Amino acid sequence: MQPIRVAIVGLGKIARDQHLPAIAGNPDFALAATVSPRGAGLDDVPHFPSLDALIAAGVAVDAVALCTPPQVRYAIAVQALAAGLHVFLEKPPGATLSEVVALEAEAAASGATLFASWHSRYAAGVEPARAFLADRRIDRVTITWREDVRVWHPGQAWIWEAGGLGVFDPGINALSIATRILPKPFFLREAILSLPANRAAPIAARMTFSDAAGTPIAMDLDWRQTGPQTWDILVETDAGDCHLAKGGSVLTLPTGTETQDDHEYPGLYARFATLVRERRSDVDIAPLRLVADAFLRGERETVEAFED
Ligand code: NAP
Repeated sequence: MQPIRVAIVGLGKIARDQHLPAIAGNPDFALAATVSPRGAGLDDVPHFPSLDALIAAGVAVDAVALCTPPQVRYAIAVQALAAGLHVFLEKPPGATLSEVVALEAEAAASGATLFASWHSRYAAGVEPARAFLADRRIDRVTITWREDVRVWHPGQAWIWEAGGLGVFDPGINALSIATRILPKPFFLREAILSLPANRAAPIAARMTFSDAAGTPIAMDLDWRQTGPQTWDILVETDAGDCHLAKGGSVLTLPTGTETQDDHEYPGLYARFATLVRERRSDVDIAPLRLVADAFLRGERETVEAFED
């Protein structure tokens, strides 16, 4: 079978850290080109300032992986689908819910695959946690996602702008896991968003969710944590605790602790290959919907200005 010729659009941090090695390590894919408006490309791979320029140059591609900031993703995705290309969307899948729904319709009409990827769902502990929780009574959930924005997002202006999500950029990863492992859908009850005086997106947020049974789900997001970082989900059940740590890679159940090597991006590309071969799409907007609800329903407080 011929490999899927994929172009990376947005050759920034995540493209270099994760997409390039995942593509190189998967024989179902061949890197055909890269695109970014200002940055340089790679040796021996055609590089273009825009998808327009790539298409005009006649480079043969079957698919694009969109690793741009979310605010520009819709326009590029529509253009790719119109050109008959399969589309892998980095998370979050868009800057608004309605543009993602519109993209799904475009993909269905074009017959191409649209994959709204959630990399944290491919962390090693997530599927075993889901299996453990499937038949349990859930008593309480505590999500703590605290990291140092200066370490993880240095100088990324877009993340602080409207549509960049601020602290929800990592927080949506926790929600992508929670929406996968918890057996019932859940919804926002209260949120307090902390916005630096000089920024358009929150640096911290405290939220309460619940499911239809009234299960309390507390979430604490904070970008001001220095020192050890915290990416934890604790689910208390009638059969003991299920604790996911380190973003989902370390799982502790009443039977013991399991740790496995990272395989999030290889897992995403394996899934994308299957979807392309089967001509199917996978677009779950549940994590983005919860974030949108926090912006819709949450109270705002102004906190100290943030400088990079
Ligand atoms: P980044 O380092 O700022 O990279 C963004 C890239 O997008 C840059 O190469 C930029 O090109 C390019 N770009 C901007 N506008 C474009 C346009 N109109 N057309 C084509 N390319 C464009 O950001 P990042 O950290 O990689 O994050 C990108 C996405 O990945 C975000 O949605 C983020 O949530 C997600 N993600 C990030 C991480 C992480 O650890 N950083 C982890 C998982 C997922 P120029 O440099 O040429 O301007």
